[in-house]
Amino acid sequence: MPIDWSNKAVYVAGHHGLVGSALVRALETAGVGRILGWRSSELDLRDRAATFDAINEAKPDVVIDAAARVGGIMANSTYPVDFLQDNMLIQTNVMDAAHQAEVDRFLFLGSSCIYPRHATQPIRESSLMTGPLEPTNQAYAMAKISGIYYIEAFRTQYGKRWISAMPTNLYGPNDNFDLESSHVLPAFIRRFHEAKRDGRDKVTVWGTGAPRREFLHVDDLADACLMLIDMYDSPETINVGWGDDLPIKELAQTVASVVGFDGEIEWDTSKPDGMPRKLLDTSRINALGWHPTIRLRDGVASTYDWYVENYEAA
Ligand code: GDP
Repeated sequence: MPIDWSNKAVYVAGHHGLVGSALVRALETAGVGRILGWRSSELDLRDRAATFDAINEAKPDVVIDAAARVGGIMANSTYPVDFLQDNMLIQTNVMDAAHQAEVDRFLFLGSSCIYPRHATQPIRESSLMTGPLEPTNQAYAMAKISGIYYIEAFRTQYGKRWISAMPTNLYGPNDNFDLESSHVLPAFIRRFHEAKRDGRDKVTVWGTGAPRREFLHVDDLADACLMLIDMYDSPETINVGWGDDLPIKELAQTVASVVGFDGEIEWDTSKPDGMPRKLLDTSRINALGWHPTIRLRDGVASTYDWYVENYEAA
């Protein structure tokens, strides 16, 4: 019988972020009993005692951990201490507190950057830990890999029905549009939008444009997460992706065309390219009956509408 969300209290860690806010929308649509969440100003998840107090008092049935220090290629390679430390602290505190509060179902979210730089493409879950990582996001990846193993450890040592899932590159409303720390898709939206607004005829972006990336709309991810909590109970992490990728150059053309910027796109090759390719093999989640539905151009268009409406806040 499918899960009855109406009698569940779900704590979404990071509920105001890109992923967390999509989870809240999906849970509300599913008729969830209660959603719990604290903004980082109310609860700093790096603070172990405060995290224990909050989760123990709330006693959720389900925890979805979408709280993390995230960032694009520059932020990740410039601040490795912050990325490793904050993510290790957040995930360890949330999981330990959930264990003490006897949380039944826990979903830990990572990212496709946990896989080796030279993993065979599309990347299967089994390639985890089979080779060196991509240096530009190593700190974040190391923390997330520890998180996956921590979930496994709770299963082994305490028989918990806890799981982890690895989404591909995500985008959608409530993304980070700060050009220093954002990922490529929101950066393109902002760069092309501001160039068009200011009447500039050239935009400079990073790298060669040759790397290939896969993009999944967060609403598709949120849908997958709810299905996994319902149907998936295995120690092995599970990939969540669109199933196809494209060169960054093509992404630039797609975003420019959605935004209506028709000037020149210049590539600053002094900036890093990162992983040459990062396409997830999604056969395992597809076999559970889940398939994404939001096509890239449509997803970029709706995200762009959101960005324009929320320009000041974003
Ligand atoms: P990654 O998937 O971890 O490499 O993270 P990003 O989303 O930050 O970058 C993906 C690719 O887009 C890399 O090859 C970047 O060099 C390229 N890229 C091009 N322009 C930009 C930009 O303005 N911002 C970011 N973050 N990446 C860019």
